[in-house]
Order: sequence, then structure tokens, then C-alpha cells
Amino acid sequence: MPTSVEFPEDIVRAAFERCGGQCECELHGCGHKGECPQIFTYEDRATSNQKGWQAHHRKPVKDGGLPTLENCQILCVSCHATFHLSA
Ligand SMILES: [Zn+2]
Ligand SMILES: [Zn+2]
Repeated sequence: MPTSVEFPEDIVRAAFERCGGQCECELHGCGHKGECPQIFTYEDRATSNQKGWQAHHRKPVKDGGLPTLENCQILCVSCHATFHLSA
């Protein structure tokens, strides 16, 4: 079993390459109707909640979500905040 619930660096990189740097948000409550136009470079990875992108657990850790590529979703910080507000 992994000791950490956070995504390993290689998983985050693979997820980032999968989405081509575009926010993977599919919510309709963010104002972009399921397609967030935000595109980032890997260096834009957020170190705060101000700007950039973050790795989001599709299935929350508290519900048994694992740090796998399938469970990793790349989100801009504003969409990520919306996810956690609506959860
Ligand atoms: Zn977004
Ligand atoms: Zn969004």
C-alpha cells in the first residue's frame, strides 16, 4: 500500500501530458459550460491557491480514492476550489 495519498510526481506528469495542459474540469457550475479554456505549462503548477493548476482526486481520498492516473484530474485553481465547495 502506498504510504501517501498524494499523487507521485510521475502520475501528475502523465496526467498533465494526457490533458495537454488544459484544465480537465467538466463541471457546468463554473461558468464555462463543461469546458474550461485554461491552458498551462507544467511550470504553472500551483504552489498556492492563487493561480496555476493542481492535481485533483476524482474520487476523494476519504472515499477510498487512490493516487492513480485514473483518479488524477488536472484542474486550474479556480475550478479546483469550485469542486471542493460543491462537494
Ligand atoms: Zn478550470
Ligand atoms: Zn471548472
